[in-house]
Amino acid sequence: MKKLSVSRRSFLEQLSIGTASILMTGPLGLYASNNRPDRVLGVALVGLGKYSTRELGPALKQTKWCKLTGVVTGSKEKGEQWAKDYGFPVKNIYSYDTMAQMADNKDIDIVYVVTPNGLHAEHAIAAAKAGKHVICEKPMANTVAECDQIIAACKAAKVKLSVGYRLHFDPYHKELMRLAKEKDFGPFMNMSGDRGFIMQNKVWRADKKLAGGGPLMDVGIYLIHGACMAANGMAPIAVTAKEFIKTKPELFTDVEEGISWTMEFPGNAICTARTSYQHSADKFRAEAPKGWIEFKEHAFTYRGLVVETSLGPLSFTPPNQQALQMDDFANCIITNRPSIVPGELGRRDLAIIEAIYKAAATQKRVEVKI
Ligand code: NAD
Repeated sequence: MKKLSVSRRSFLEQLSIGTASILMTGPLGLYASNNRPDRVLGVALVGLGKYSTRELGPALKQTKWCKLTGVVTGSKEKGEQWAKDYGFPVKNIYSYDTMAQMADNKDIDIVYVVTPNGLHAEHAIAAAKAGKHVICEKPMANTVAECDQIIAACKAAKVKLSVGYRLHFDPYHKELMRLAKEKDFGPFMNMSGDRGFIMQNKVWRADKKLAGGGPLMDVGIYLIHGACMAANGMAPIAVTAKEFIKTKPELFTDVEEGISWTMEFPGNAICTARTSYQHSADKFRAEAPKGWIEFKEHAFTYRGLVVETSLGPLSFTPPNQQALQMDDFANCIITNRPSIVPGELGRRDLAIIEAIYKAAATQKRVEVKI
């Protein structure tokens, strides 16, 4: 099958994100003559759970423009082990209630919030008040109101804010965004997606206070984000939704176990999607009048993406999405440019999620107000 020639081009463009923009001379004279910054920015991870341990920590060993210099954790022993593994001083280990003291620590420039969703606002605001730039994991917070509080706190502290939307640094999703923008196939009119995994035990992800909701907050958000990418960055204008019947009501006492929804985009484009903690799936498809793109496997994860278009399969060498994402944010700070994944993008997705929950609760079509 014929390959998309444009794909290779956009892949090369993608690779150059980390170099072209980074090679710009920093306004603050932060660069040495070899075009590397004099000082690599320090990152502190807040919450040392699975995502920090398996992905962000290892990625910070691959970054060029930032490195791990501290942690915020509820476990002193865990913090000491991380200090040993990553070579930072034990004075850079904080607990959730000593985050304010980071204000005096020059080793830490960026605080990356990786705690349960319901704690993002508290930890992001504490970081901003300590004068640190903030990356907040997805979903940015439990509610739009909390997103607004984070954005306001970062603005007041004059620090930058970004959301952990790593897929903006993945070549396949960059190709989706390029196709949406340049309209090789025409505008994407029909999108569909499915994402879920089977949850066996009650964990914070099934607790409304800590998670904000069920699978829609955790993994369904990727379908929302992907559909907005396919809609060339536009948000839906209205949604309808229906919650699944619960098969494990004892686990999902105050969050949905599954939900299906439809998003109506400007220009009559539609996305139908579903997400649940009762089935496994990770796929997404966008169809346009002259062609399509399909993320067949691992659509929104970090490894093993299988993506085809109507012109043939795409095969990019997968980069470390998290390393690119964190390096780009460090570069935003060094060169004082805005992040391509700002807090407003996280807030947008929460506004869509709130509309979907309202539509499911009322069984009515709900307009999305961003
Ligand atoms: P996890 O359960 O493995 O880790 C959560 C961490 O928060 C743990 O270290 C835990 O000790 C700490 N914590 C602090 N206060 C807590 C409390 N009151 N209750 C429970 N834990 C508490 O979760 P995770 O998978 O690492 O997810 C953390 C965040 O990262 C979530 O917001 C999630 O959506 C996000 N995430 C993003 C991606 C991505 O690809 N961008 C992938 C996984 C997770």
